[in-house]
Amino acid sequence: MSLPNLYPQSVEVLKGVLGGENYKSIEPYLHAYDGTAESVKPVAKHITVYWVGRAADRMILRTEGEDDIVLSDVGTEAVPTIIFRKLKAVYLREFMQLARVQWAKHKEKIGYEGDFLAECSIAVGIAGERKGVLHSRCMRCPVDALMGATSAKAGYNLVSRFVGDAAYALTPGTERRTGSSVDEVTYTTIMLTEGASEEERRTGALYSETLVEPGTLFVGKIVLPMVSPPELVHVLRLLTHVTRVGARTSIQGTLEVYPVAMIGDLFEVGTAYEVAERLQGKKSIEEVRGGILEYLSREAKFATSSNVIEFTKDIVVKLKNVNMLDEKLVVELWENARNYIEGVKAYIRVK
Ligand SMILES: [Zn+2]
Repeated sequence: MSLPNLYPQSVEVLKGVLGGENYKSIEPYLHAYDGTAESVKPVAKHITVYWVGRAADRMILRTEGEDDIVLSDVGTEAVPTIIFRKLKAVYLREFMQLARVQWAKHKEKIGYEGDFLAECSIAVGIAGERKGVLHSRCMRCPVDALMGATSAKAGYNLVSRFVGDAAYALTPGTERRTGSSVDEVTYTTIMLTEGASEEERRTGALYSETLVEPGTLFVGKIVLPMVSPPELVHVLRLLTHVTRVGARTSIQGTLEVYPVAMIGDLFEVGTAYEVAERLQGKKSIEEVRGGILEYLSREAKFATSSNVIEFTKDIVVKLKNVNMLDEKLVVELWENARNYIEGVKAYIRVK
């Protein structure tokens, strides 16, 4: 089945936002899911999106390790790094929120059996019996179909088609801050008790943390393998809508994200690491934009790729004006997820 037949509304939206010529050049890298096993077989179609981020205030990038910041060697510097999983968690949450609103508004039309709000959740239980337990995923909604999910109940796993590189800072700036957390009763770190030594009388604590300096720029990359038109509309919209990520669980502080350009190709194009290496020391967003576009147009020459589609002001404004609750668009996204799951089940032969 052709793309315009399966996804008339999403194709219209993409043409309107990107322009007819850009759409035509990226179309070969979009994928159609019609519910058959054949449609989910891996084929070489990738859409790569580069973005630039700016730390809008002092930012902590939590790690599971001992320090607060992940550092990577880029060129001769060790620079702060945002691992992709942290960034994906932000977009997963945003997409889930949008899907919930879509379901609530159009549940009669989208053909999802059961109560989506009850069956699919990424929230962690904070009280009662299920404290600290991840609520389960439904394994059949647009969020699970695109971003991947696993569940003990389903006979299949869903691979993520929203992947990417770590984002690297273009300057090494970090600062180390030491503070004391005082005890709530005495407002000091030392209490006058019978304890013999100062250590025994200590009730508060000292701590230190490492922060990314405000204004630090990052370069990152998102890759969408075998993405369908309604999924691309949603990802692009999330990227332009969520300009601030963080102040949450794993990124504390504010990171503003600006998509710069996208390109379709058989394989993903370039690496965020290579771009960061070339643009080390750059401190203006405009300079970084220019650098990414130059890098991509050079990479594109060696590949069988689409146009390098720059996210101009015009495109970003048009994206922000797309109505994500439009019935036709919503129905296409949810139908696509259903077909995708049908395809996966047929492919691995589970009921
Ligand atoms: Zn789900």
